[in-house]
Amino acid sequence: QQPLLMVRGLQKHFAIRNGVLGRVAAHVRAVDGVSFTVHKGETLGIVGESGCGKSTLARLLMRLIVPDAGEQIFDGDAVGVQGGISVKDLRRQAQMVFQDSSSSLNPRMPVQGSVAFGPMAFGMPKADATALARELLTKVGLNPALFGGRYPHELSGGQKQRVNIARALALKPRMVILDEAVSALDKSVEAQVLNLLQVLKRELSLTYVFISHDLGVVRWISDRVMVMYLGEVVEIGPADALYAAPKHPYTQALLASRPSMDPDRRREEAPVSGDPPNPVNPPPGCRFHTRCPHAERVCSARAPVLGDAAAGAHLAACHIQNPASGHSLAGRPVLP
Ligand code: SF4
Ligand code: MG
Repeated sequence: QQPLLMVRGLQKHFAIRNGVLGRVAAHVRAVDGVSFTVHKGETLGIVGESGCGKSTLARLLMRLIVPDAGEQIFDGDAVGVQGGISVKDLRRQAQMVFQDSSSSLNPRMPVQGSVAFGPMAFGMPKADATALARELLTKVGLNPALFGGRYPHELSGGQKQRVNIARALALKPRMVILDEAVSALDKSVEAQVLNLLQVLKRELSLTYVFISHDLGVVRWISDRVMVMYLGEVVEIGPADALYAAPKHPYTQALLASRPSMDPDRRREEAPVSGDPPNPVNPPPGCRFHTRCPHAERVCSARAPVLGDAAAGAHLAACHIQNPASGHSLAGRPVLP
């Protein structure tokens, strides 16, 4: 079966200028050659510390920002090229839900109007769009008779995020990109919204890209997980395999340092010893070598390759784990 989304070599570097219109002083390599596939009906989780490029990647996937290089194939059609799928069509078939539930809703519009707005912008008559909005509000657990006329400031964070989910579903998307979509919610509300997402996914045959710094939540919701570090994919694999036996030393460190179930610590970014290096000038070779306990000389000399993630494959971009891609480390023991 054809994957819903294929991304090859996606890249986005942001220029940093001296002064407003000054000359380009440097580039932040936010997303630096990322390739992966999302299969129909699956949830791909994306994890990594803040600044690893996951939000930039989400915006690239929606074409809210334009990539410098790389290709994106949506259900067999190249995005934004002649003969492919237009950005407008992509943005109907793929929708995004952000972390900040307030900023994405119009504060001066009753929420039922916010949900109806997208379909109307795409030409649906107002009466139909309103009926659809009421149906979707019901689906996300908000009685339209009670909530439809309310304004965003009259709703709780969890209720607003339900409205945002209804709004994302209003264009009948096939894929929903959730960028820290539950991260701002209280734990109990977060669990309700996660359960709702699972129900909707089954009911509407959706495909999710679920981005979060919360490793526990990602494990719970994802079929496969992709780990990013400084703009690159360092590991990808089935969620169970990746959590049970992480291959990349960065993933191993992330999981080992994962806070316990202590509720006060759960929302912290998982600490890995040392700060992430500056993405303006990432370390040569393996970008993790400045923090990796297993680094050898080859690690700073050559960049390890992830390889091609066929369905179900569990891969890591690491010379030790992947000596076939690499470089003279054959024969040394594989990491535990
Ligand atoms: Fe560590 Fe080398 Fe593997 Fe990078 S390639 S993760 S530095 S062992
Ligand atoms: Mg982010």
